[in-house]
Amino acid sequence: IPVDPFDLVIFGGTGDLARRKILPGLYRRFLAGQMPEDARIIAAARSEMDEDAYRAFVAEAIAEFVEPGHRDKAQIQAFLARLSYVATDAKGSDGWDSLKALMRDGVVRAFYFSVAPSLFGALAEKLHEYGIADGDSRIVVEKPFGRDLASARALNATLAAHFNETQIYRIDHYLGKETVQNLMAVRFANSLFEPLWNAQHVDHVQITVAETVGVGGRGEYYDRAGAMRDMVQNHMMQLLCLIAMEPPYKFEPDAVRDEKLKVIRALTGVGHDEIVRGQYRGMPAREGRKAEPSYTEDVGNAHSRTESYIALKVGISNWRWQGVPFYLRTGKKLRNRISEIAITFKEPPHSIFDEDDAWRENVLAIRLQPDEGMTLTVMIKEPGPGGMRLTEMPLDMSFADWLSEDADIPDAYERLIMDVIRGNQTLFMRGDEVEAAWAWADPIIAAWEDRGERPHGYDPGSSGPEDALMLMHRDGRRWREIR
Ligand code: NAD
Repeated sequence: IPVDPFDLVIFGGTGDLARRKILPGLYRRFLAGQMPEDARIIAAARSEMDEDAYRAFVAEAIAEFVEPGHRDKAQIQAFLARLSYVATDAKGSDGWDSLKALMRDGVVRAFYFSVAPSLFGALAEKLHEYGIADGDSRIVVEKPFGRDLASARALNATLAAHFNETQIYRIDHYLGKETVQNLMAVRFANSLFEPLWNAQHVDHVQITVAETVGVGGRGEYYDRAGAMRDMVQNHMMQLLCLIAMEPPYKFEPDAVRDEKLKVIRALTGVGHDEIVRGQYRGMPAREGRKAEPSYTEDVGNAHSRTESYIALKVGISNWRWQGVPFYLRTGKKLRNRISEIAITFKEPPHSIFDEDDAWRENVLAIRLQPDEGMTLTVMIKEPGPGGMRLTEMPLDMSFADWLSEDADIPDAYERLIMDVIRGNQTLFMRGDEVEAAWAWADPIIAAWEDRGERPHGYDPGSSGPEDALMLMHRDGRRWREIR
């Protein structure tokens, strides 16, 4: 379904995110017929560049980041014709009059701030000073949204000086993932799961976001953030909210966000012994493999105490979840790349079988990547003549298997950008949610900083520091394998 006609301005249109995600995503939406005839994309960034040079830059981005099957020459040309470029300085007067002259009346105006957060305030101010934004305009802001409660509040206040909350779209691309939205469908469109979705039936929840890559070129930013700020406070918190929230009365932006906020406010603190931080070690060269730098070498800071891995246990103090631990872990340079949420249900209250040590837990695992899908593990009788022996069987639903090959599943960024044009804030974080998440994270971070704690070392390609295993073993549980 095409969206309304729009003028979308991408500040930072020459940046890495625009090149890898935003522009290829917009091209795919164009191909899918979602962009009306008169939709325009205007890139604004600091570099001096003419329109042809910018279009060539975008053509290259499409060649690099769009699947070959979708690269149609004529379509690419038609898409490029929608693009313009204006060299604009967020901090000065360059470009703003030209930008204003390009904007049309009577269409949706959206401004994507794909620049460093330190420029958000300047951009918001300029948009008003030059009369480019109006009461219906929308702004999209990227992460990181602050590095603690104080900076997030300041950022919210800066934006609020020029825009209403209904105009501000704080992107968390995890919320744009197909499976994440499916999580809400599974919970609230089936009568099967919801009766079991509580402390009476759920033993615990594990949320894992494991990456195989190191900090790459983002070392400078990452070393100031660490896994807690980069992953837990935002992405993993959002996943936790969708699992734990009460049913909203309607699938509407504020109804959903109100429920998420209640979850964040009900989070328990995390004690010293409920958290394990790690930092990846280096690897000397060995049989046919190159040496791998350590975290401290990657970020160029030999004394860094920043964590590239974190595992923690948190509770939710409300009726539904009292006593149910949520175990979160995320890290870089781990064995495999996997994001999943696993809900482990309690064992049956009484076993009528003679089996002693078999695991009798039903687990609902929701995979976000790779191979998006869900698996429900059920116990069955081991087939064959061996008597009544039990075994686990996965009921597997892989989206890729189920969907036809040409199914149009938009990537997270493209879906979210279209939501901005539609004016749908359901999948975007509200200011109070972000602040509440920082209010939870701040004291946890402050506590380890006060202790001057060093992260535990772990080997690249492992499942993280040994101590993280203890976090679960102590409770008589174990992490799912990162495979
Ligand atoms: P980048 O450094 O590659 O690009 C920055 C862009 O900002 C460039 O287009 C540059 O011209 C523009 N810019 C810089 N100073 C300017 C000024 N004074 N006036 C106007 N434009 C100016 O950055 P990026 O990696 O594309 O990241 C952009 C934003 O997205 C950041 O907030 C970042 O944290 C966030 N983000 C990036 C990624 C990613 O994968 N790159 C992922 C998540 C979030």
